[in-house]
Amino acid sequence: MTALLAAESISAGYGDSRAVVDVSFAVDAGEVLALVGANGAGKSTLLRVLAGAHRPTAGRVSLRGEDVTRVRDFERNRMGVCLVPEGRRLFASLTVRENLEVGAGSRRDGRWGIDTVVDALPMLGDLLDRNASQLSGGQQQAVAIGRALMSNPEVLLLDEVSLGLAPIVIDELYESLAAVRGGGLGIVLVEQDLERTVAVADRIVCMLEGHAVLEGTPATLTHEQITDAYFGHHLAFSDGGPGGASAKGASSW
Ligand code: ATP
Repeated sequence: MTALLAAESISAGYGDSRAVVDVSFAVDAGEVLALVGANGAGKSTLLRVLAGAHRPTAGRVSLRGEDVTRVRDFERNRMGVCLVPEGRRLFASLTVRENLEVGAGSRRDGRWGIDTVVDALPMLGDLLDRNASQLSGGQQQAVAIGRALMSNPEVLLLDEVSLGLAPIVIDELYESLAAVRGGGLGIVLVEQDLERTVAVADRIVCMLEGHAVLEGTPATLTHEQITDAYFGHHLAFSDGGPGGASAKGASSW
């Protein structure tokens, strides 16, 4: 079966520095894939490559089997790939409703509109006419996710949605994501909280210094394997990078 979105041997960087090295994975409709790894592991860069906001130095991104590697971010958005970047980036002078409507700019056909977004993100219900600058961090994050949904994406790329938020607010956002994914959306998310990742993800890819060093389902990976991959414990860097055969051999999956 053709994957909804696939990263195929992606490498990317900034000038001479390598941020992502030969990473491959695929996401299907209705599936949540979580990218985990320490700061600087390359997760955000990889999301930006998937969104068309950063050009890879090697590899291919495919959407439903079609090569979209050279398709720019705005066009890829029209094709159904939507990135919610770290930091939310709302229009502070616009209301919540207006911010949501901005997301509908490159609108595709689909189920999402203001009403369905509010159903999925109930915390927005009373805030539609509020100025975005008056919102709490959690409310801003909900608007950022809602704005992305308004474009009726097939793939949602979420970069650290829970950063800086209170646990109770994060719980609420993750409940919303569970409802959203029920509609058949594919989700790639970057999340620092490993426990939460294991609870929400169908598949986990652990990144270390740009390499994907471990991949599996929460059912097949142990907590120890994930934390070892996260921190690089037990990984022998015999080939000059943590993604080498010795690293993969070090885990038992
Ligand atoms: P974080 O959790 O801190 O966001 P990350 O896993 O998302 O980390 P990236 O932000 O993708 O990692 O960074 C990967 C590497 O690329 C790091 O070494 C980082 O310093 C570098 N990097 C990221 N953005 C830039 C940039 N705009 N210019 C130069 N180097 C960058």
